[in-house]
This record gives sequence, structure tokens and C-alpha cells, in this order.
Amino acid sequence: MPVVSEGKSIPLLDLRPEYESLRDDLVAALVRVADSQQYILGPEVDAFEQAIAAQIGARYAVGVSSGTDALLISLMALGIGRGDEVVTPTFSFFATAGCVTRVGARPVFVDIDPATYNIDVPQAIAAITSRTRAIIPVHLFGLCADMDPLLDAARRRGIAVIEDAAQAIGARYKDRPAGTLGEFGCFSFFPSKNLGAFGDAGLVTAETDERRDLLRRLRVHGSSPKYYHRLIGGNFRIDPIQAAVLRVKAPHLERWTEARRANAAHYRGLFRECGLDSIVTLPQEPDGYSHIFNQFVIRAPRRDELRAHLTSRGVGTEIYYPVPFHLQECFADLGYPSGAFPISEAAAREVLALPIYGALTPAQLRLVVEAIAAFYHGR
Ligand SMILES: *Cc1c(COP(=O)(O)O)cnc(C)c1O
Repeated sequence: MPVVSEGKSIPLLDLRPEYESLRDDLVAALVRVADSQQYILGPEVDAFEQAIAAQIGARYAVGVSSGTDALLISLMALGIGRGDEVVTPTFSFFATAGCVTRVGARPVFVDIDPATYNIDVPQAIAAITSRTRAIIPVHLFGLCADMDPLLDAARRRGIAVIEDAAQAIGARYKDRPAGTLGEFGCFSFFPSKNLGAFGDAGLVTAETDERRDLLRRLRVHGSSPKYYHRLIGGNFRIDPIQAAVLRVKAPHLERWTEARRANAAHYRGLFRECGLDSIVTLPQEPDGYSHIFNQFVIRAPRRDELRAHLTSRGVGTEIYYPVPFHLQECFADLGYPSGAFPISEAAAREVLALPIYGALTPAQLRLVVEAIAAFYHGR
């Protein structure tokens, strides 16, 4: 997690500038919840849900305990379980696939598109069987998956689409907001996401009253009324403290995302200027998409050596993600061999996330790119 910047070192993520600019309001929000003595659900959560739904462009938002639980509760709401299959990309954060196994269903993995790192849509459609109940496209790093052909294929077959929009709050696909396109949209407020809480939190979007009510019930063990259960849910509640923190931060999200987008544009110029644009591959933003750059991920030859070089120069980086799902030990029983998804396996060997947070200065961005140039050009 975030390292405080020291001297010339540039951490992968530094949340302190954002925190300090809002410190008084954040502390006031924490005290307000403490004084209210309302520690479970209630008005802070209601107010947060209404505001964030409007901001995201969804009809309803149901706050939950994490992005992981957002995915889990969506699968539960669809009644997905034993004997069912759910199609997911093999290249994502673990939760995308873990939640499928947790409800007793079988994850069916597919490869990614090499340019966007998102689900290979023709492969996903080809992976549909009579047991497929849902597809979980991931809007990886903050760029939407190609949703229209996926939604179209899913609707024609009566299959649900659950968007893993954990990294994509505010991203757009053909002028439609991420997380409002499928049956459910799942968001995370893990501190390193563009909108981060003071701990774990998440939410699920819903477009109908029925789905919203079902999510609300499932997040309190499925009870309605209290202590009467027709359904089995779980404790998936968002804390009022996190809701209060997020209410303070949410109005600044658009500005922070614009700063990330500006940094990405600035990086592009610097990579060109330093003669690196034919060596490393920069993130793409296809026409009609708006990337929110939760991560700025390059593809780099000799990635591990480059990473060690950057570490020695005080530049923080990370590998998202080093092992695709089909090669994870816990999924060995699914029987996917090495080589099954070559695009994802190549990405796992080549990707490197660079610092992109809004408070980075042009001089810091230049230091990062110059350190990369020094590695490849031997200067
Ligand atoms: C962060 C993340 C999640 C899980 O969110 P948590 O809030 O950490 O549980 C799920 N999917 C993706 C793609 C993520 O990046």
C-alpha cells in the first residue's frame, strides 16, 4: 500500500495529497458518524447510495462490504450455484473468479484482447453452453470491455451480464457509464481505486426496484422482515463510516480522474519524446471509450529487469497480474493447461503498472520516463 514520497522517490500511489486537501471534512464526517451512534446502515448509507447512484448514472446503488462481496451478492441474487457456469476472463484480479467458485458454480475462463486487456468477446460468446448463467466482463485498469456484442449475445440467450467495474468508476463506453450496462454493476472502494474509502467498501447498481430490494435483503442475511428468511444471504453491509468518507470524496472524483487522464496524455508525449514508443506498448483508449486510468499499464520487453531498475531509481511499480486464473493452483482442478490462453499468459509476463495518481507533477512523470529510457537506451 501507499508509501509516503521521500526525496526523489516516486511511489506507485500516494494518497496523502488527496487526504490532506480534504482532511477537515473527512474528520468531521468520522466524528458525525461516531456522535450519531448509528453504526449499521441508516441515513449515512441511504444518502451515500442516492448520491453515488446519480453520479454513476445508475437508477439504484446498494452499498456493500467490498467489491468482492458486490460480485458475490450479484451471483447470489441471480440464484447462480452448483451446476452453473460463469464465463470470465482469465486475466483479472482474483475476486472476479473466486466469487464464482464460492457460490458453487464453475468459472469458465476465456482469453483477453491484446490491445485492451479486456475479455475477448468472440471467445466469450463461443464459451457459452447450456449451463452458462452469467458472463462477468471486467473493465480492467479503468477501460470498459466491448459491451455491445457481449450484451447482445447474452440477452438473446437469457444469460445475465455482471460488470466487474471495480476499477472503472466514471469510465464510459459509447457514452454510457460503466456499471450500468449489465444486470448488475459491481464497484469497489478499496483505498487504491479512483474513489477509495478508509477501508473496505463496495456497491452494486441495479436498474429495477425488484433487483434493488433483492440486493438489500441479501446484504442482511436474506431476512425480510427481520429474523424471517426465505433466502440465504450474508452480512454484506457497507459501514456508515465508509459511506460518510465516500460522501466527502465523491464530489472530487471527476477532477481526480481528469488529473489521471491528463497524466496519461503527458506520459504519451514523454514516451514519444524519449524514443520509447516503439519499445514499450502504451495503454489504448479506443474511439468512443473513456479510460479512467485506475492503472497506467505498459507492456515492456525484459519487464522484470526494467522493474528492478525502476525500483533502484525509487520509482514504484506493480505487476497486475502475474498469474492468470487458469494457472492458479486453486483452479488446477478445472484442468486448464499452460498455454491455454496465450494472450493472457504473455500479458502476465509483460505488463507493468506505473505511477499515475493525480498529484504527480510533470517533473515526476518525466523522471519516470527518463528512468525507463535510461534502461532501454543504456544511458
Ligand atoms: C479491486 C477489485 C475487486 C475487488 O474489490 P475489493 O473491494 O478489494 O473486494 C474485484 N475485481 C477487480 C477487477 C478489482 O480490481
